[in-house]
Amino acid sequence: MAESSADEVVASTSETGCVIVGGGPAGTVLALLLARAGVAVTLLESHADFDRDFRGDTVHPSTLEMLDQIGLAEKLHAIPHGKMRQALIRTKERAYVMADFSRLPTKYPYVLTVSQAKFLDLLADEARRYPNFRLVLRANVQRLVEADGGVKGVRYRDGENRWHEVRAPLTVAADGRFSKLRHLAGFEPVKTSPPMDVVWIRFTKKPTDPTECAEIFVGGGRFAVVLDRGDAWQIGYCILKGSFSALKTAGIEALRTAVGEQVPWLADRVAEIRDWKDATVLNVESSRVPTWHKPGLLLIGDAAHVMSPVGGVGINVAIQDAIAAANLLTDPLLMGTVTEADLTAVQALREPGVKGVQEFQAMVQNKLAAPGLTGKEFRLPWFVRLALSLPVVRNVPAKMMAYGPHRVKLAPRPAVATAP
Ligand SMILES: Cc1cc2nc3c(=O)[nH]c(=O)nc-3n(C[C@H](O)[C@H](O)[C@H](O)COP(=O)(O)OP(=O)(O)OC[C@H]3O[C@@H](n4cnc5c(N)ncnc54)[C@H](O)[C@@H]3O)c2cc1C
Repeated sequence: MAESSADEVVASTSETGCVIVGGGPAGTVLALLLARAGVAVTLLESHADFDRDFRGDTVHPSTLEMLDQIGLAEKLHAIPHGKMRQALIRTKERAYVMADFSRLPTKYPYVLTVSQAKFLDLLADEARRYPNFRLVLRANVQRLVEADGGVKGVRYRDGENRWHEVRAPLTVAADGRFSKLRHLAGFEPVKTSPPMDVVWIRFTKKPTDPTECAEIFVGGGRFAVVLDRGDAWQIGYCILKGSFSALKTAGIEALRTAVGEQVPWLADRVAEIRDWKDATVLNVESSRVPTWHKPGLLLIGDAAHVMSPVGGVGINVAIQDAIAAANLLTDPLLMGTVTEADLTAVQALREPGVKGVQEFQAMVQNKLAAPGLTGKEFRLPWFVRLALSLPVVRNVPAKMMAYGPHRVKLAPRPAVATAP
C-alpha cells in the first residue's frame, strides 16, 4: 500500500464498483452518470459540504445540454443565476466582442453563472436518489490500496481521524489541482508557468451595472476580468507572476485605486476591499500528466491537467472528462471487466482537446496577457482585431469556450430505478 503504515487500525472496509475521490465538478458529474446507469459508486470528498473556496461558477452550454438530457437543466435554472451572453475585451479606445454565445445554435446560448456549491448540491441530491450511490463527506483520502501491480481502492481518514478502506475495481482521482492520488501514484505533471497570477475580489451588484456579459479590461500595464456571479461581481485582477508581495507592500489603498481606475464603473465600491482577506491570490499554472492511468486508477479533471484561467474553461473541460469516462467505462464497470485499455481510451479521447485548449491558452497568455501586463499603451494585435471583426472567425472563440475543441456528448442510456 502506498505511504501506508503497518499499524493503521482500519475502522471499516467496504466494496464498491467504482470509488471516486473528489467531489468537484469532474467527480460529482461522473458519480451521478455512473450511478444513474446502475454502477455501484462511492464518492469521497474531504470537505464537510460542497461550499469550498471560489473556483469559478460557470456552467457552459455543453454541460447545460447534458443536464437537459438527464432532466436537470430546469432544476439548475431554478437556482438564482446569471447569464453571460457575451465576453468583451475593453481597451482604452473601444470594446471588442471576443465571444458571442447568443449566436450559438443551442437551447442554451449563454454561459450560466451559478454558485458552484449549489450546482454540486443539485448533482449530489440527484445521485442520492439511486440506491447504488454513496457519498462520504469529510473523507480525506490519504492512501492508495495497491496489490498485484494495480490499484484496488483507497484509504481515507474521517472527521474523527479514523481510517476507512474502500475497495473497488476502479479508483478515479478527481481530487483537483493538488491531487494527492496523482502524487501517490507517482505521476509527475509537466508544468508550464503562465506569466501571471490572479487576485480574486468580490463586489456587490447595482441595478445600473452592465448585464449579461463578462468584460476584460486591458490597458495601462494592467488587466482585469469582470465576471457576473448572478448576485455579485467577481473580479480577476491579473498581475505579473510573483508580484503579489509587491502589491501588498504598496498597500490596500493602492489596490483599491488600481481596480477603480481599471474598471471605472466599480470605482464607487472599491471600499468593499476592506483588507487582504477580501483579495485572494491564485497562483496560475497550467500542467498535464503524460499518462492519466495505471491499472485500476484513472485521473480526470484538474488532477490530470490543471487549466489556466484564460477563457474560464476548466470546469467545462473537467466535466467533459467525466462524460467521456462515463461513456467509455459504464459497460466495463457493469460487467466487472475494466481493463487498462479502457482507461487508455478515455485519455486518447480527451487528451488532444485538452492539449489544444492549453496551447491556445498559452498563446493568449504570451501574446496578449503578458504584453497587457507590461505595456503602457496596450493595443490588441492587428490580427486579433481583424479576426474579431469577421463574424465567421468571431464565432470560433464562443464555440471553443462553449464546447471545447472536441465536444463529448453523453451517450443515451436509460437510468436505473431510483430508491422508493
Ligand atoms: C480561483 C479559481 C477560479 C477559477 N475560475 C474558473 C471559472 O470561472 N471557470 C472555469 O471553468 N474554471 C475556473 N477555475 C478552474 C476550475 O475551478 C477547475 O478547472 C475545476 O474546478 C476542476 O474541477 P475538478 O473537479 O477536476 O477539481 P476541483 O474542482 O478542484 O475538485 C476537487 C475536489 O477534490 C477534493 N479533494 C481534494 N483532495 C482530496 C482528498 N485527498 N480526499 C478527498 N477529497 C479531496 C476537493 O475538496 C475538491 O472538492 C478556477 C480555479 C480557481 C482556483
